Amino acid sequence: MENLESVKNRIDELTRLLNQYNKEYYLNNESSVSDAVYDSLMHELMELEEKYPQFKDKLSPTQRVGGEASTSFKKITHNKSMLSLQDVFSKDELIDFDRKIRQITNLDTITYMCEVKIDGLAMSLVYKDGKLQYAATRGDGVQGEDVTANVLTIKSIPTIIEDKSDIEVRGEVFMPKKSFKMINEENRKANKPLLVNCRNGASGSIRQLDSKITAKRKLEANWYYFPDALEHNFKYHSQSLEYLDKLGFLTNKERRLVKGIEGVLKYVDEYTQKRETLDYDIDGLVIKVDDLSLYEEIGYTMKTPKWAVAYKFPPEEKQTLLKDIILTVGRTGRVTPNAVLEPVFVSGSTISRATLNNEDFVMALDIRIGDTVVIHKAGDIIPEVTRVVKEKRPPNTVPYRFQKDCPYCHQELVRKDVQHFCVNKDCPSRVVNKLCHFASDTGMDIDGLGESVIELLFNNKLVKDISDFYTLKDHKQEMMEYEGMSTKSINALCDSIENSKKNDLPMLLSSLGINLVGKKTSKVLSEKFKSLDAIINASYEELYQIPDVGDITAEQIKLYFANPENLNQIEKLREYGVNFKYLKSTDSIKDNFFKNKKFVLTGTISVSRDEMVKRIEQLGGLNLSSVTKQTDFVIVGEKAGSKLEKALKMGIRIIYEDELNKLLKEAEQ
Ligand SMILES: [Zn+2]
Repeated sequence: MENLESVKNRIDELTRLLNQYNKEYYLNNESSVSDAVYDSLMHELMELEEKYPQFKDKLSPTQRVGGEASTSFKKITHNKSMLSLQDVFSKDELIDFDRKIRQITNLDTITYMCEVKIDGLAMSLVYKDGKLQYAATRGDGVQGEDVTANVLTIKSIPTIIEDKSDIEVRGEVFMPKKSFKMINEENRKANKPLLVNCRNGASGSIRQLDSKITAKRKLEANWYYFPDALEHNFKYHSQSLEYLDKLGFLTNKERRLVKGIEGVLKYVDEYTQKRETLDYDIDGLVIKVDDLSLYEEIGYTMKTPKWAVAYKFPPEEKQTLLKDIILTVGRTGRVTPNAVLEPVFVSGSTISRATLNNEDFVMALDIRIGDTVVIHKAGDIIPEVTRVVKEKRPPNTVPYRFQKDCPYCHQELVRKDVQHFCVNKDCPSRVVNKLCHFASDTGMDIDGLGESVIELLFNNKLVKDISDFYTLKDHKQEMMEYEGMSTKSINALCDSIENSKKNDLPMLLSSLGINLVGKKTSKVLSEKFKSLDAIINASYEELYQIPDVGDITAEQIKLYFANPENLNQIEKLREYGVNFKYLKSTDSIKDNFFKNKKFVLTGTISVSRDEMVKRIEQLGGLNLSSVTKQTDFVIVGEKAGSKLEKALKMGIRIIYEDELNKLLKEAEQ
């Protein structure tokens, strides 16, 4: 038997070496050992920790590839509030900021530290006795969440520092552009939703309960603020940043100390240009007074310090070519003109389409095919055409005329107020959109039923209306002949469709696409009436008296169920075994690991399966019969077979009975 003391010493030695190599690699971009040596040391440490868990430290280098998944984040109250900064949007406001500070301090020239404002997630690291205690998000500024396990996966962050005093360091965790691109390429291949931008990518990754997922996201971090600088006898903010450098924190190298507002404005000009070329997204610049002794005098407002300001860049605008204007027809028949653009990269993603709202909007812009247009993203998300660059208009363009017929069914369009409609309910575009809505996450949330698959099924006449999805399992042979379909994908699709029969009433109701009845109204109606039949039979009076429903929605509901074709579909859904009952509201269930999670149980466990399923369902979990991409976790007992194999292949979380019992105990507290 190995001597425990020597084991402990070896673990310490390995920890020290791995920390040192990490630092070399992530801070200085160099390494004194090969990858193979690094990996073998890491492997040795993992094995020792597994054998001697009593020596496993929560800051161990092995934890930096992602540790155990947690069920929720602990709340942490910040030692000092994490204030946000006052935003300014113009140079005039910057000049004003400088003028006020000179007035208060009676100084002629102020020295400012200019820094880039990385578009990520603010983070606080707290150290005690030279060891990282926790990492917390900003939250509401007073209280944040403990995300230590996830932050540890960012390997440039030191877990151990030389300074043994109580230290807090603040900065930004972010997703570099190249990680964003890589993840979205993977998601595109896997047909998963794309990340909208780097900021959402970073915050979504940090809030993962499973730190192994965070580890895959390749986040980075920069540290820009040392709240205890004065207590550490620093006179200048710039000095405190140099100290952070020395302690092994990655600070931002784009920072610059400048004298007076002239220097600030020059920095602004320079970085407005340079912004595109950086490896990460920035949404502005931060200007801080460098002399810490002036902070008290300059003071604070209720929410922000007056000695610093965030200069925000104007929304990014790009010019591109308008190649075409096409009309799309939604499931309600609403017609929307869309600009087809030469693809262009704006605020973090490539844009090739933008809405043109309606005829009046198109006419007001006088937008013509062949024009160069200016686009930006409203709220950094929705692409919009803001104007036409008339100087760049080529000769021979013609004013755009709004099409009179529906491009999909050629029936004449009808204009109501500013909007055009195709009133043909059999219009193929309307039907396909109705089918898409049924399967979408506002409806039955059926995995694998995206727009392109639905179009394929519709064009091949396999699915003409919503209930036809449930007959697809009898048409597997035909589907095999479609391009891009395999036995595997067809089986997975049919499994997802089969699983959707168990969906709760609000999902079914919302999937029907009744005008004005979305997710929220569906929930309200389900809670009140408890079954689809009761809703169908409800009187107009009963409906409109419900808060959140009202008379117009009540009318739409009655109208929908008065239509024999709709009732026919509903009867078919019933026949195929789709759930019509309100199973239960999970609202009243307190948050816990199982709530709203889809699970599969496979193999033999030590208690009755039915009992176990019931216990989990009481916590708000949803039991599925087969493993699909939507499955959140698979509970594995003895002699588990193909389902376990499938879950492993799909990377779905596996939970064995002992862990399950632990989670149940925690959730039932
Ligand atoms: Zn049409």
